[in-house]
Amino acid sequence: QVIYLNGQFVEKEQAVVSVFDHGFLYGDGIFEGIRIYGGNIFKCREHLNRLYDSAKSIMLDIPLSYEEMEQALVETIRRNGMKDGYIRLVVSRGTGNLGLDPRRCPVASVVIIVEQLAIYPEEAYVQGLKTVSVSSRRNIPDALNPKIKSLNYLNNILVKIQANLADVGEAIMLNAQGYVAEGSSDNIFIVKNGIVFTPPCYIGALEGITRAAIIELCEKLGYKLKEEPFTLHDVYVADEVFFTGTAAEVIAVREVDGRIIGSGQAGPITTHLLQEFRGIVTVDGVK
Ligand code: PLP
Repeated sequence: QVIYLNGQFVEKEQAVVSVFDHGFLYGDGIFEGIRIYGGNIFKCREHLNRLYDSAKSIMLDIPLSYEEMEQALVETIRRNGMKDGYIRLVVSRGTGNLGLDPRRCPVASVVIIVEQLAIYPEEAYVQGLKTVSVSSRRNIPDALNPKIKSLNYLNNILVKIQANLADVGEAIMLNAQGYVAEGSSDNIFIVKNGIVFTPPCYIGALEGITRAAIIELCEKLGYKLKEEPFTLHDVYVADEVFFTGTAAEVIAVREVDGRIIGSGQAGPITTHLLQEFRGIVTVDGVK
């Protein structure tokens, strides 16, 4: 496995960053998770747009142009001989001193890791996941704005810990007002009477790229889609519930907080959307 580290390609064991990197000291940085399907970097432009927007928002200068970053991704994939897998792209503030001041970090660190992905087994896409809602609340203000895909993932990690304690793969986070926001690393959708609903991102969700792809597919396939706030009650009584994310793709939910959803397995619209999604992953992106 070869890692891209600040313009060099190094072996995994040599891929180290300084303990004075503010990514390590303060979680000061941003990241993307991207999929490669059949040698195609799925939605590459969308991921890079989100990365550069996150960087702008936190005043982080990425030392590579957009085109150079795309080239770095392509080259890292090529050197690893990867056709299907996952890319983790991290840009941290870089090496500084112990103070908070980002002016002491002259150059951001850029890391690209390409790996095999093992998430849910194929049966889970048919049977659906069990999930629970958790007490952690999605933050909205300032730098913890969910639109910034920052290295500050503590809130999401607390959600993951609550999911682990409940022995489920993903959990549902609400915002401070009690509206359903998203999962620890996935967006959420529900289906009721043939209409597909997902919370608007201002409720406190990342503008997921898989989410956007599913919204687009709904339009193409003629499903009515509404971006509307909803509560846990709406989730419990939904006909179908599913999560979307780069790693999870489109994964059905069969049970939420002990309530069985619909028929207790992946519903017809979820299954259709997953099928159609898998049809676009090898074409919609960068080769
Ligand atoms: N929400 C959060 C908090 C995430 O970390 C992710 C993963 O990137 C998502 C949602 C899903 O977004 P995407 O479809 O872009 O992977």
